[in-house]
Amino acid sequence: MATTTPQTEIINPYDGSVIDTVPELNEADVRGTIGRAAAVAGELAAMPAHQRAAILNRAAALIGDNQEALARLMSQENGKPVKHARGEVSRAVETFQFAADEARRIHGETIPMDAAKGGVGKIGYYVRVPVGIVAAITPFNFPLNLVAHKVAPAIAAGCPIVLKPAPATPLSALRLAEILLEAGLPQGAFSVVTGGADVGAWLISDPRVAMITFTGSPPIAHKIMQSAGVRRVTLELGGNAAAIIDEDANVDHAVGRAVAGGFAYSGQVCNSVQRIYIHRSRFAEFRDKMAAATSKLVLGNPMDDQTDIGPVINEAAAERIMAWIQEAIRQGAKVVTGGKRDGQMVYPTIIEDVDEGMQVMCAEVFGPVVAITPFDDFDAALAAADNSPFGLQAGVYTRSLDKAMRAVQRLNVGGIMINDVPTFRVDQMPYGGNKESGIGREGPRFAVEEMTTLKMVVINPGV
Ligand code: NAD
Repeated sequence: MATTTPQTEIINPYDGSVIDTVPELNEADVRGTIGRAAAVAGELAAMPAHQRAAILNRAAALIGDNQEALARLMSQENGKPVKHARGEVSRAVETFQFAADEARRIHGETIPMDAAKGGVGKIGYYVRVPVGIVAAITPFNFPLNLVAHKVAPAIAAGCPIVLKPAPATPLSALRLAEILLEAGLPQGAFSVVTGGADVGAWLISDPRVAMITFTGSPPIAHKIMQSAGVRRVTLELGGNAAAIIDEDANVDHAVGRAVAGGFAYSGQVCNSVQRIYIHRSRFAEFRDKMAAATSKLVLGNPMDDQTDIGPVINEAAAERIMAWIQEAIRQGAKVVTGGKRDGQMVYPTIIEDVDEGMQVMCAEVFGPVVAITPFDDFDAALAAADNSPFGLQAGVYTRSLDKAMRAVQRLNVGGIMINDVPTFRVDQMPYGGNKESGIGREGPRFAVEEMTTLKMVVINPGV
């Protein structure tokens, strides 16, 4: 008797409506999908670079043509305000364009063989070749552009890719798979497997997978590392990013950027600014201006063009964020603004009088909460910012070149923004973290490096 595949409902986090259903795949489905990726691996590896680039450029154009529909789909599946979702689609277009550029310039180099006595008379060079099948696992917060950051470089590199999106947000990835077929990508070169942790675990445990690229939270990353074995792994994880605002900083600029960087998509962003250290002489000014700017943010239906803040992804996330705020208050923190919720709508919250042991300081809030702290000594502020298990990005506002360069040297992070918040990113940058924030870098050029390996060729002429 034929069995039917169980379906998972995809729920709009704003109004609880069912947007669509997707299949909850079983192990045989996942292994079958990997088999189709294996079947096309040779064709993809042999495909000329200009053809891979052309597919990526066509996909970029199609994503751009579908901007509004994709933005609305994303907004419905993850509650991101549609104006921000449009920005994510524009970024995904660029991610594909950058990957197309990279596809054309994957190359090796010659090795001066006669630099070693034993190499005299030999010709040596290396080429970059695709690693093989890439297994990708992605989070809910950027369901299009973070998927693009795995799929586009994989195609550029000539690797088939099987992607498991977050259970809450598979629709953008499924739509992207259709777009890539339309752009001319061979069947099986990019597949989406829908489901939860089981599907992810079956995917990464398959020995045909040569590389795992994961974006998500550190606890899941630790589990993934246990089954990775001797395979390439890229981990793009979370953080509790810090910004430092020094006494000579342009406070008005910093305030505007802190509001955007702390509260965009309700702080559900890996490099969302969570801790801000402000020179004591500017603390009150910064706090009052940031509170005033925050109070102007419009909470509401993410599908409305005016909305700045929509719901967080689910009820459990809203409860946890509120519990962390309450815990900080019990331990002596004071709410400057926000500190409440209406269902899944968590109000953008600024808190002061915090200390480093509070969860809102030392763990990843992944919600619209920014903790502000005054400092007297710039180097002490650097040490406080760096006192974190994470190391994704940091921001430092100063007009002093000396202090800026001290920050660059001192902070153990994957990226430092001088005169901006840590939330800044454009898609060609090498992006990734140190410590619990991850391993490896994304950004098409760097992801292509991770998804290719070197093959050395030595020729002994005249033999
Ligand atoms: P999550 O870690 O809960 O889930 C991520 C993905 O892992 C999902 O697809 C999930 O189904 C899958 N998964 C869960 N258990 C698994 C298992 N045992 N084996 C294989 N896969 C499994 O993360 P989330 O809540 O979707 O996203 C939020 C996290 O992602 C935050 O920590 C955030 O900082 C991080 N993030 C990092 C970046 C970055 O580029 N550094 C970008 C966005 C989000």
